[in-house]
Amino acid sequence: MDEQRIIRVGVNGAKGRMGMIIAEGIRSERDMQLAFEADRSDDLADCIASAGADVVVDFTVPGAVFENTMAILRSGASPVVGTTGLTAEEIDAIDHELLNRNMGGIYAPNFSLGALLMMRFAEEAARYMMPCEIIELHHEGKLDSPSGTALMTADRINERAGTRRDGGGGTLEDSPRSRGLCQGSTRIHSVRLPGLIAQQQVIYGGSGETLTLVHNVTSRACFLPGVLLAVRQVLEVRGFQQGMKI
Ligand code: NAP
Repeated sequence: MDEQRIIRVGVNGAKGRMGMIIAEGIRSERDMQLAFEADRSDDLADCIASAGADVVVDFTVPGAVFENTMAILRSGASPVVGTTGLTAEEIDAIDHELLNRNMGGIYAPNFSLGALLMMRFAEEAARYMMPCEIIELHHEGKLDSPSGTALMTADRINERAGTRRDGGGGTLEDSPRSRGLCQGSTRIHSVRLPGLIAQQQVIYGGSGETLTLVHNVTSRACFLPGVLLAVRQVLEVRGFQQGMKI
């Protein structure tokens, strides 16, 4: 009889809000073992080597995520990255390094099921209604803006709108007035306030009507199932997969 493979998982940023939830979640999974919990003061490469981790989940800060991801893959573990803020150039560089090593990694700016569905519905609506604008609202401690989820949603909307016969929304110019950041044909407005966790709205304007999609995060627990799924999938991935597949 085949013995079930136990995946040895390290958590980087383990003392953070997300890191604590992920470490606790991994402890309760029968096919996973929590290999280590690292934070800012730890040497990540040493932790991976001494614990023999297969996968490392990173929920840290935008300023450290590129170096962390490189350290993870160079130590032979597969990165599952939830930290937002990687640039397109950094994503390409990580993809290149992973492919050179015949390894895989997953980068998802949002692991929640509701957010994944929102992106799918947002794309669908862009086939029929444009222009649209995104408002993303997060807690005051979020360091990056706009959010990685808003950027990914805008990219998916723009790609779908660009396939329309009328050419979709075209490319907008950044405005000196308070009209948000232009990501292709979609404007993004960022709000940072205490009392919020995360909300995203996509508002489509039409002739005499609007359509609004809203996704609310009421607890960070919503990100855990997607992270656990990514940990199970990442060993079969090659290159740096963007987003989760549903
Ligand atoms: P947080 O509570 O501030 O936690 C971040 C943790 O990382 C802190 O313990 C911090 O330590 C630690 N850290 C900072 N620099 C580090 C380094 N170089 N190496 C190792 N650890 C380091 O933040 P959070 O709310 O957990 O969010 C973390 C990230 O995940 C953010 O980018 C957020 O946007 C993102 N996020 C993504 C998803 C998703 O679904 N993908 C969901 C929620 C959040 P110090 O406190 O000592 O600085």
